Amino acid sequence: MFSVSLLSLSRKGAPQTFAMVIESGKVLKERKNETRVLEAGETSGLMHFFCSEPSGATLTVQEECVYLRWETSSFRAACEKDASFNACFVSYLTKEVRKRSNMLSVLEYLHGSPNKSKVAFYDAKSYMKDAFVSQNAEDLEFVFIQDYLTEKTAYMAGGCRVVCVFVNDVVNTKVVQELHRVGVEMIALRCAGFDNVDLVECEKLGISVTRVPAYSPFAVAEHAIALMMACNRKIHKSWSRVTQFNFTLGGLVGFDFHGKTVGVFGTGKIGVCTINILRGFGCNVLCFDVYRSAEVAAMTGVKYLDTLEELWPQCDIITLHAPLLPSTQHCVNAESLAKCKKGVMIINTSRGGLVDTQALLDALVSGQVGSAGLDVYEGEKGIFYEDRSNQVMADTVLSRLVSAHNVVLTSHQAFLTNEALAGISTSTISSIREFNSGKRGAQLTNFQAAPK
Ligand code: NAD
Repeated sequence: MFSVSLLSLSRKGAPQTFAMVIESGKVLKERKNETRVLEAGETSGLMHFFCSEPSGATLTVQEECVYLRWETSSFRAACEKDASFNACFVSYLTKEVRKRSNMLSVLEYLHGSPNKSKVAFYDAKSYMKDAFVSQNAEDLEFVFIQDYLTEKTAYMAGGCRVVCVFVNDVVNTKVVQELHRVGVEMIALRCAGFDNVDLVECEKLGISVTRVPAYSPFAVAEHAIALMMACNRKIHKSWSRVTQFNFTLGGLVGFDFHGKTVGVFGTGKIGVCTINILRGFGCNVLCFDVYRSAEVAAMTGVKYLDTLEELWPQCDIITLHAPLLPSTQHCVNAESLAKCKKGVMIINTSRGGLVDTQALLDALVSGQVGSAGLDVYEGEKGIFYEDRSNQVMADTVLSRLVSAHNVVLTSHQAFLTNEALAGISTSTISSIREFNSGKRGAQLTNFQAAPK
């Protein structure tokens, strides 16, 4: 163990290579164009043990530092002379390799086809992979990574200039910084929502972000209607009864949609499709949107309300189609629910964060809310899209929602149609190709700018 005060550890051209483990303090590491601060627990130069011509770095102690230094020659001597050290070392390596089998597939790709543009594709579920593979994009090489993008998995994008992510990948400040560090220059969202991305940090670091602004809005609108119909006609309950040869009808009474008032919050692409279907049912549709579209009003014949406050008390059903923004977060809360008609139906296929779920549960228990159809849930990250059937659900709010007889919950699947998957893959691949052709930021057709 060495204790060092302000001392240059420059080792460029040093005859004897070594690795070091920082015990305490900070060391500045400069290598090619990369500068990093190493702190307690971090290592430098481990590759020197294995490479005959290791590359150099300049290490400069930044503050009083204690470190462990190990010469390459002593490491090799230990390997040769001490069989138990060897066994221990190989066993450790094997465990690490198993843990990082995903990283190995990344490395395989890195050493694979040098002429193809590599795209790190996180949260690679079979249905999504199939949709992208079926596009036969020969110019792109997708590195399919099963894990979500998080602070722990961002390093797996090393060697890829583009990462492709979905709704539950985490693209916060730290992740964006790590992606930048490993050389990522573009984040291609294969979804419409972008609330999981720190766009400001992306802009600061020059990372271009694209999304899929429209891919079969019918898919999501039709799912919202499916949830409405299931909640109203209690299809989940009747199906379950019939599977047990119970053909009774008690408790299954619904209402006619015809003539009912439905509130649509957000009249973008999905909101408009939903309105059109509801108009076909003969519903009276009231809308609220911060951007009032004369075109939508003329096309659908619906009425825009001046404030969201007016929407709550007038509707039998409220369906959410606005994005998750600070201004829309928890717009469905204890206060707004108390203003609704007793027995109102709440439908959310947008983002879980629009609804204060605890307040919704309380209102379902009190009967203020008659039923809820939810495709999204604010705590869905890490739960949805995975098989949790062999675990006791630790999220008690979700457990209560699932067990409520008047809640129909699906696992963020409103987008899941063949047409939508084809639209998502075509649009994402087209964005990546634009990027590869040299376009950056706002030059990209589906660029998502940071909020001003
Ligand atoms: P869009 O951009 O076409 O429409 C969103 C609308 O919301 C716009 O008209 C906008 O003016 C309005 N809006 C924005 N802020 C508002 C506010 N504070 N109050 C009221 N209205 C506001 O988006 P879209 O394609 O219709 O998608 C809507 C949402 O659906 C997306 O943001 C996404 O979160 C969600 N979505 C969910 C799924 C799923 O599988 N469940 C799939 C796709 C999209």
